Amino acid sequence: MSHPSGGEKIPFRRSLQLKFALTYLIIIAAVLILLNTYPVLVSQDLVFRSKTSLLQSQASVIADTIARTESLTSESVRDYMEQLGYIGQFRVLVTDEFGLILYDSDELRFTEGRYAMLGEVSAALRGYNAAISSYQDGAFHSRAAVPVIYRDMTIGCVYLYERDTDQAQLLTDIQRNLTSISLVICVVVLIMSGFFSRVLTRRVGELLRAIRIVREGEYGHRVDIRGRDELSQLAGEFNQLTGRLQTTEEVRRRFVSDASHELKTPLASIRLLTDSILQTDGMDPATVRDFVSDIGEEADRLTRISEKLLTLTRMDSAVAVETAPVEVAPVVEKVVHMLSPLAKESAVTVETCLEADCVVQATQDDLYQIAFNLVENAVKYNVPGGRVMVGLRAMGDLVLLTVEDTGVGIPEEDLPKVFDRFYRVDKARSRAAGGTGLGLSIVKDTARQHGGAVTVRRREEGGTCFQVAFPRWTEEGGAPL
Ligand code: ADP
Repeated sequence: MSHPSGGEKIPFRRSLQLKFALTYLIIIAAVLILLNTYPVLVSQDLVFRSKTSLLQSQASVIADTIARTESLTSESVRDYMEQLGYIGQFRVLVTDEFGLILYDSDELRFTEGRYAMLGEVSAALRGYNAAISSYQDGAFHSRAAVPVIYRDMTIGCVYLYERDTDQAQLLTDIQRNLTSISLVICVVVLIMSGFFSRVLTRRVGELLRAIRIVREGEYGHRVDIRGRDELSQLAGEFNQLTGRLQTTEEVRRRFVSDASHELKTPLASIRLLTDSILQTDGMDPATVRDFVSDIGEEADRLTRISEKLLTLTRMDSAVAVETAPVEVAPVVEKVVHMLSPLAKESAVTVETCLEADCVVQATQDDLYQIAFNLVENAVKYNVPGGRVMVGLRAMGDLVLLTVEDTGVGIPEEDLPKVFDRFYRVDKARSRAAGGTGLGLSIVKDTARQHGGAVTVRRREEGGTCFQVAFPRWTEEGGAPL
């Protein structure tokens, strides 16, 4: 089975609009058919019943009147009928006990002296009352036959027949009116269903168009939301999704351009230094050595940037990492130990206050990375004679790692941006300290990957305080990630 892909135009016969319109129409048609047939059938049945009971009672009256002698004759019946003064709208037949016609009110038929070969007559002669009514050729035909009983003996039968066109006409008129009304309703419904389904499918069409536009890469496109139904909800969700896509796309673009810019700077320096060496004849060996050592430093910077970019890309691809409960204190101790030469060089003292039993569900490497970046920054952006205080404690469900320093501090307006990729408050200082502008964004992403969150604030007494909160892992409950 083939599905309509992207831009393919759906033919009308397969369209949602036609399906909607047909559904409305089928439902309405079913209701109308029911309305057209049921009342007519019920009233027809009512007419049948009233006709047969009327005919039967009339026939019984006649039968009772003529049941006065042992046997019936044409003359006696005629006399009785005249006595009855019977000039009804019915045809009256009276037969003897053998079905021989003694009297027929329709004299033009000349049926007298013949046998009445009628089902109702033979039933009546066997002692039963028989009545039937039917509709045929625009008229109700009703027949009833009752036995004429004299001293428990069936001596003949009275048969009544009626042909009624008036009531039949009335019923036909009602039926015709109902049909006309139904046809009008059908046309109105057809127009209305066409209109409503068009409105509905036009909105679906708008959504579809918007999806195609966004698919082509125009992430700024939004759908105009009208109404408060599910379709508007869908449009709202679509707009939000597109908004996120747009943000992600912008972040990606900025990241790529920032990354290339960051990579270009050391490369340009290397190019400049090599050109200088190559173009200066007779450069003294000490200067050459200086330049080559600068080239080496720039190469180191390139290595650091590419390593950190790799770390970030790995996190972006959200590859699931194998985590395990890790005691944080030893990891932090290792970091402080690793950074002690740098601290010594910068004349900064690092103090630690680490609680045991602070366990989090993570990996050793990630925790090391987080602590390393924070403590390294605290040392790098410090002043000679400054201090770095590293704290680790458990508080309720959380494990809190705090890195405070008495360093240069971060201006209030830069605080929210320090976790952005490549953001540096003091570019020159960061560069001089070998920074890449990626350390804190790695801290933020890594912490988030393990259910943690990092915050930063200025210390009142000067310097900065970073705090990472992780969900605490406990023997009983594990970590609420
Ligand atoms: P970098 O590689 O430049 O250190 P980071 O992402 O680690 O990149 O930090 C971003 C910026 O935040 C740094 O350039 C620096 O200006 C500022 N910063 C980070 N930590 C501190 C700190 N402890 N004290 C003052 N400024 C800091």
